[in-house]
Amino acid sequence: MQNNKEWQAAFSVIEQLEKAGFEAVVVGGAVRDALLGRPVHDVDVATNALPEEVKTVFKRTVDIGIQHGTVLVIVPAAPVEVTTYRTDGEYTDHRRPEVVHFVRSLEEDLQRRDFTMNAIAMRRDGSLVDYYGGQLDIEKGVIRAVGEAKVRFAEDALRMLRAVRFSAQLGFSIEEITLRAMQEKAADIAWIAKERLKAELDKLWLGKDVYNGIKKLQESGLDDYLHGDFHAENWRGFCVQDKLFGWSYFAFIQGENWQDVLRSYRLSKKEMAFVKAVLAACKTLTSGWTNMDYFTYMEEELEAALYFAELRQLDVPKPPYSILEAQTKLPIRERQDLVVNGMDLLKWSGQKRGPWIKEALQAMLEAVVNGELQNDRQQIKEWIEHKYVHEG
Ligand code: ATP
Ligand code: MG
Repeated sequence: MQNNKEWQAAFSVIEQLEKAGFEAVVVGGAVRDALLGRPVHDVDVATNALPEEVKTVFKRTVDIGIQHGTVLVIVPAAPVEVTTYRTDGEYTDHRRPEVVHFVRSLEEDLQRRDFTMNAIAMRRDGSLVDYYGGQLDIEKGVIRAVGEAKVRFAEDALRMLRAVRFSAQLGFSIEEITLRAMQEKAADIAWIAKERLKAELDKLWLGKDVYNGIKKLQESGLDDYLHGDFHAENWRGFCVQDKLFGWSYFAFIQGENWQDVLRSYRLSKKEMAFVKAVLAACKTLTSGWTNMDYFTYMEEELEAALYFAELRQLDVPKPPYSILEAQTKLPIRERQDLVVNGMDLLKWSGQKRGPWIKEALQAMLEAVVNGELQNDRQQIKEWIEHKYVHEG
């Protein structure tokens, strides 16, 4: 059915486990995405073999989550995550089970999974094990909790945000009882670590129907317990390939408060810097595209700003050529490309150090970037002498 190397690797692992007398299947996202005809990246295997047993079957394994029953098996085509069938123990904090119990039946393993579409297993011959009507829900485009939704969300509140994220990724609706349970349990999302919220939002921003996702976020009331302003109307038509475009646009909507909001989701310094640049670019571009804009911002930052301007119908003119082309044509690309530095300035002007140096360097940079002054020592020297010796 699937013939990329991740599937080949998973099927060869299953075959070897079967030869050793165990049962093994592909489970979770890979089966769901294969049924949907979506590209599949991680093909996870579940088995009735205990982790120690899995390790005896294969030459090369890595313990990546042995306490949860997961062993990484290295086979030639690709590494495969193999997890022992398990049930989750008591949940005490709305997040993770205290302990997991390994079990020998696939049925029990599938029962602990969050949504019917994620609780389908595939055997090596391609046949499906689907106790909860996952295939039908996929056909109908519905996200439905496995078992009693309220209980499942009380166990692990992150599942509610996963439902929202899947609704953005797949364009699915959320089944009524499941949605009602989310409304009831929404406040529990506050228990979830910010890093895990961020990981879900990272995926949400890349969804094919972000508007649908944010609408579900609002309908479930989860938005009341998450930092920041989520307003579905803002997300109509939003569709991007880069999660930082998502965070930047989210920041754009927050207004003044954006730094506090984004920091609360633990964005890295680098991610924050990207967002900051995009917001600044959005402002300057309203007065047209200048060489200094092409010089100051990275291509992606300008692309993001331009995309938001188009989405919001802001008064930003279209750039005359492609951003990359304009950047390639710049006289210099970096500050360090200037052939003159502050020491040269001091020497040539014969003046004392002072804040004027920084200003002069900036003026010189702009003149060079704008093509009014050549990046040439002799020409710059004359320019300095003219500007700062005779005038200044
Ligand atoms: P993605 O495409 O984002 O990887 P996925 O469905 O594969 O989606 P994973 O986080 O990789 O999501 O989890 C793999 C599988 O484990 C899920 O399909 C689901 O069966 C189960 N699972 C993951 N998280 C939970 C959870 N919080 N509660 C219950 N089951 C879960
Ligand atoms: Mg996955």
